[in-house]
Amino acid sequence: MAADPITRDPRDMNALSDDDFRRELRGWIQAHYPPELRFMDRRPSVHEIMPWFKALIAKGWVAPHWPREWGGMGLDIGKYLIYYDELGRHGCGRIPDHAIHLLGPLLMTYGSEAQKAHFLPRIVSGEDIWCQGYSEPGAGSDLAGLRTEAVLDGDTFVINGQKTWTSLAPDADWIFMLVRTDREAKPQSGISFLLADLKTPGVTVRPIVNLKGEAEFAEVFFADARVPAANLVGRINEGWGMAKTLLGDERIVNGSPRHASYALRRLHVMAEHSGAMRDPAFLDRYAQLRLDLHGLTVTFESYADALRNGGSLGPDASFLKVWATELFQRVTDEMLELAGEEGALSRELDVGGVKVDVMNQYLESRPPTIFGGSNEIQRNILAKLVLKLPG
Ligand SMILES: Cc1cc2nc3c(=O)[nH]c(=O)nc-3n(C[C@H](O)[C@H](O)[C@H](O)COP(=O)(O)OP(=O)(O)OC[C@H]3O[C@@H](n4cnc5c(N)ncnc54)[C@H](O)[C@@H]3O)c2cc1C
Repeated sequence: MAADPITRDPRDMNALSDDDFRRELRGWIQAHYPPELRFMDRRPSVHEIMPWFKALIAKGWVAPHWPREWGGMGLDIGKYLIYYDELGRHGCGRIPDHAIHLLGPLLMTYGSEAQKAHFLPRIVSGEDIWCQGYSEPGAGSDLAGLRTEAVLDGDTFVINGQKTWTSLAPDADWIFMLVRTDREAKPQSGISFLLADLKTPGVTVRPIVNLKGEAEFAEVFFADARVPAANLVGRINEGWGMAKTLLGDERIVNGSPRHASYALRRLHVMAEHSGAMRDPAFLDRYAQLRLDLHGLTVTFESYADALRNGGSLGPDASFLKVWATELFQRVTDEMLELAGEEGALSRELDVGGVKVDVMNQYLESRPPTIFGGSNEIQRNILAKLVLKLPG
């Protein structure tokens, strides 16, 4: 990383042309992103990504869509898409961003003045690392079935229950969570949004090791854990609506062709080297993948254009996520097929001098069809709200 001190950028970046913004951002990322962390074969740990996280914080570039008054860049949607495009192009690892994407905007809309004043500066300065506690055993797609309960007792909530698949929990300081506060009400009506310090007595974080052997997420257990009633965000029993309405236009990022595009370039290198490009059956499949990527890219851009022109995303945007994530899987299936046994045994192949991370790409492509609303759920949305098929 460059040694020059980073000072906070006071400018309104929306005032730059898209090309100037992209050029400046690209140059800054190149100068400051640790080269050894480019295109990592896994999500970097909080410890590894911390220098980059701190560089973004120091520059004031860590929260692209937050208003400038809260320490964000205040980017419009067009610049926001360029921001993520450039991070992806350079192979930047993901920072601990749950609070930046979800909690921050939620607090700005529903939080008390005291909550905003206390938590927002600590999020944007990286002082508190947050994780998201929505899913539970038995409540993932059917999130409204969650059972972790918080009972008001004087000026504290007493929490009992369990969260699971909580990304970053092993490294986090705080968890924002959906809890059941009324067992008698209809499922969605008895849910509240609560903030809990993970150091609270009665909270236990048990890491879960994923397919790649990394403890990226965890189970989080609550046994009579007491958190201040002041940590309730918004009104009691109204957490469901708050969490749902804040999906926002950023969800277009899940439909980006970036991952499939990177994998297809790797597949191309492998096919050139192995001679598969001369195999008509392979060429057939490869051509289909390329056409699908082209189609996805053009469609993604048309949605991005609509947003740039002041539009918003409708339920039809669900198909971008389905298309992007399944195409990524089809490309990595083909990579593994081409690599044969070697691909399964080794994380990184040397293909004519080019390093190709076959197995990693394959494993990386599996979770995106599950998180962010599984693809089956996205298809249900399309069937019901777009195609108006009978339920
Ligand atoms: C890498 C990763 C990170 C994650 N990080 C977090 C996190 O930080 N915080 C958090 O709260 N959660 C997190 N999750 C959990 C994620 O949100 C859930 O896995 C997801 O919502 C699916 O829920 P589930 O695993 O309980 O599966 P289930 O809901 O039990 O679904 C199992 C299968 O059934 C299908 N299915 C379910 N209902 C229907 C239906 N009505 N119609 C058709 N098919 C259906 C699903 O699509 C899926 O294929 C993470 C998951 C992954 C993979």
